[in-house]
Amino acid sequence: MVIISLTLLGLAFGSFINALVWRLHKQSITKNKKQKAQLSIVNGRSRCVHCRHKLGMYDLIPVLSWLYLRGRCRYCHEPISLQYPLVELSTVILFIISYLYWPGFQDSILEMAEVVDFGVWLAALTGLIALVVYDLRWMLLPNKIIFPLLGLAGLNVLLQSILTSSADPLTSSLWGALIGAGIFYLLFQLSDGQWIGGGDVKLGFLLGILVGGPLPAFLMLFIASLLGTAYSLPRIIGGGLTVKARLPFGPFLIAGGIITKLFGQGIVDWYLNSFFY
Ligand SMILES: [Zn+2]
Repeated sequence: MVIISLTLLGLAFGSFINALVWRLHKQSITKNKKQKAQLSIVNGRSRCVHCRHKLGMYDLIPVLSWLYLRGRCRYCHEPISLQYPLVELSTVILFIISYLYWPGFQDSILEMAEVVDFGVWLAALTGLIALVVYDLRWMLLPNKIIFPLLGLAGLNVLLQSILTSSADPLTSSLWGALIGAGIFYLLFQLSDGQWIGGGDVKLGFLLGILVGGPLPAFLMLFIASLLGTAYSLPRIIGGGLTVKARLPFGPFLIAGGIITKLFGQGIVDWYLNSFFY
């Protein structure tokens, strides 16, 4: 039952991400104020990006509409990006994995704080996936997504501290955020903004709060650099990519954060067991 609800929720949030990313980008390149307001996510209907035809309910069913229409617009038959169903499916998969591997759900008694924490995580995941899509497409991490997420994560940490009557969530998240952002801030200053962008510093801060501590923050950075290296090394050796080429680091950092959040404790235990006993 939970899985079915999460699937439906993931599909809905996934299509929200697609609409959000597209509208934010349009907004950022539109000068006209009236058009800007029309593009607001709370305003107006979805339209085909090619022919601007208004889309009906049957065009907007996540994944299924795309499959049924074989990836083409019903009205102008122009291709619809594979991004749409891919994002929707990824959101569902991440929601379900999060539920199955959520560290706090292993206790049989569910506490209020845990449920709130999980709900906030699903909302945060939605924003993080939107950031990945945006960064991959336009090499940018928009503040319009990062700032609301920062507010949400900060509020959750406060709430966790109140619900568990302990200052631990607050202090450890703060340390996580300082480490997540601090290392990037250093790299940013050292390289004069050449290696990484200013958006990565803010993202490091946000993910530091979300993973919730200094050690997880280090683990996240480590996993992110492993993933980044694994991705770019073959391309540098093959000559397709120069060392100087700017790589969107956001997706790697976000992947590192998600892996740490869900599997961090398992990874640390495995490491200690394999090398220290
Ligand atoms: Zn169309």
